[in-house]
Amino acid sequence: MSRNPAAEPVPPFQLRQCTNDACRFRFPLTDNRVTGDLCPVCGAAAAFTAVYPTGNPPATLPARQHVEALLDNVRSTYNVGSMLRTADGAGVRHLYMGGITPPPDHPKVAKTALGAEQSVGWTRCANGLDTAVALQQRGYQVWALEGTPDAQPLPQTAVPLDVPILLVVGNEIAGVDPGILAMCDKVVYIPMQGVKQSLNVASAFAVAAYHLAFDGVNDG
Ligand SMILES: [Zn+2]
Repeated sequence: MSRNPAAEPVPPFQLRQCTNDACRFRFPLTDNRVTGDLCPVCGAAAAFTAVYPTGNPPATLPARQHVEALLDNVRSTYNVGSMLRTADGAGVRHLYMGGITPPPDHPKVAKTALGAEQSVGWTRCANGLDTAVALQQRGYQVWALEGTPDAQPLPQTAVPLDVPILLVVGNEIAGVDPGILAMCDKVVYIPMQGVKQSLNVASAFAVAAYHLAFDGVNDG
């Protein structure tokens, strides 16, 4: 997406608050609706409270690490669109769409990616394992994101800066291809604190992509 603020003028969003002291509901007006005069919860008058800040986005920071990613047999167009947007944001250099993963020019993917499908280079590959092996032979470290019994916790895994990394995520149900788990350089997982054993694949990809891109160390 463009970082030029002139390309996408931001409307002056307003914050309103219900004048009923028993309610005090606060809510945004994010378009040109005039219905913000009434509280959507209790129907009392809603008062103008503040305008959201507008202006240039904060300064960007170059990613430290060369990261590419293999989205292998990801089924959901929503997840792929979300990961495209993450890849654009984190500076992931290239995406490989393996197996059944829908390509970025699929209409439903583009709808979620919001333009990021135009900015990140991508390649379709019929066989994700072949792609991972080929990149490893060219000097990439292949890191699979999967909660296997012997996986390393991602936050405590040092990211080397002197070698490009291929991050691999797999199918929403089955996970990363066992063939890739067998040949990869590292298997990393995101520690889970609650009752669920994993994050949504797009959320996990976002955590991992940002860690790899920005948290590398020189002597890892
Ligand atoms: Zn109210």
